[in-house]
Amino acid sequence: MSEPAIQPPGHFGIRPDKETFLAEENPFEAMMERFDHAAQLLNLDPGLYKVLRNPEKQIIVSVPVLRDSGELEVYTGYRVLYNTSRGPAKGGIRFDLNVTLEEVKALAAWMTWKCALVNIPFGGSKGGVVCDPTTMSMGELERVTRRYTAGIIETLGPDSDVPAPDVNTNERVMAWIMDTYSMHHRHTVTAVVTGKPVAMGGSLGRREATGRGCMFVTREALAKLGMGLKGARVAVQGFGNVGSVAADLMAKEGARIVAVSDKSGALHNPEGLDIAELIKWVKEHRQLAGYPKAEAFSKEQLLTVDCDVLVPAATENVITRKNAPHIKAKIICEGANGPTTAAADEILEKKGVFVIPDILANAGGVTVSYFEWVQDRGGYFWDEETVNRRLESIMVRAFNEVAATTEKYKVNTRIASYIVAVDRVAAMHRLRGMYA
Ligand code: GLU
Repeated sequence: MSEPAIQPPGHFGIRPDKETFLAEENPFEAMMERFDHAAQLLNLDPGLYKVLRNPEKQIIVSVPVLRDSGELEVYTGYRVLYNTSRGPAKGGIRFDLNVTLEEVKALAAWMTWKCALVNIPFGGSKGGVVCDPTTMSMGELERVTRRYTAGIIETLGPDSDVPAPDVNTNERVMAWIMDTYSMHHRHTVTAVVTGKPVAMGGSLGRREATGRGCMFVTREALAKLGMGLKGARVAVQGFGNVGSVAADLMAKEGARIVAVSDKSGALHNPEGLDIAELIKWVKEHRQLAGYPKAEAFSKEQLLTVDCDVLVPAATENVITRKNAPHIKAKIICEGANGPTTAAADEILEKKGVFVIPDILANAGGVTVSYFEWVQDRGGYFWDEETVNRRLESIMVRAFNEVAATTEKYKVNTRIASYIVAVDRVAAMHRLRGMYA
């Protein structure tokens, strides 16, 4: 059979004008850039390459919602199932004004590689609604959640697509999704969603899992550099569910958290911040700004502060070609999805920064989501110690596999992670063959 005439731009992404072609801020292009590199090193056959470059399914729904004022508002919602060859699609739902289809596609692809990298039997998906939840009442938030869930209900299900929390969504939102799905199906289906409240089938340790995973892989990376968490100086960008837990657990292991930031601003104390106290402060004041016992500095300064470990745990594209040359950290642990642009990667590699890429660093969340799904389906629940121990073993195993692949292929840790992940997804496709 002859190859079709139309090829993707520069097979394996060798684009003539890479610098101008690649919009640094386009997350899907950023993902593809790394995927292409891994595909080339794996010598992926051209047909499979085309399959893995394209999302399986992209859903766009209108989400009409009655505001408390009596006005009808219509939001746009997306759900992208990138690849389901290894199992049900798995991935969070975010409510944010910056949500775009390109972003959701990239995030769904990242979920595919992330699940493959930690070797759990899931594909990858992601969803989002373009809205500003900070301006919504509880009732409005519930109506957005339920209507969006109803809009994408055909693809949802424990065997087909399983959402979880992401930016601006939490266990409260997951509970509404579970209820909406269960009402449509006329029976309770807990395993349709993960990150639920523990009282309704959630897993112990799920809320802390992403931050805990960051702590485990940072510990492993520090050990590679002949250091330990004890005494390591850490800066954390983002003080939400990932950043605050990572900071807290690292501090408990003896690390000195020298700087933290959130949307409201950044705090700095070279002697170390009291994270337990800061968590209490944020619970009360809903933001870091105003905390009296540290020097306030700009959010931009946080990324280039003097430290051993930098944990970007907020959002995409924060480490760019502009600030990468000024980063002082020896290790970057990507708690967020896609915080580093492809252009910044090259700069960090030249500087010798040890990057723990997102699909490894923040995989603790989806790993315990997997445990939650297993527990829901088995109807038998584990104690927290068991959850944490199993999480540690999966994170350390994945870290070591990435480290070995880095050496084998002489590539950076991000490309090594993609190599491990893409190889696993490709192997599944080869075994299954193509349904025609
Ligand atoms: N939203 C999280 C992530 O990006 C968790 C996904 C999940 O648990 O399914 O990894």
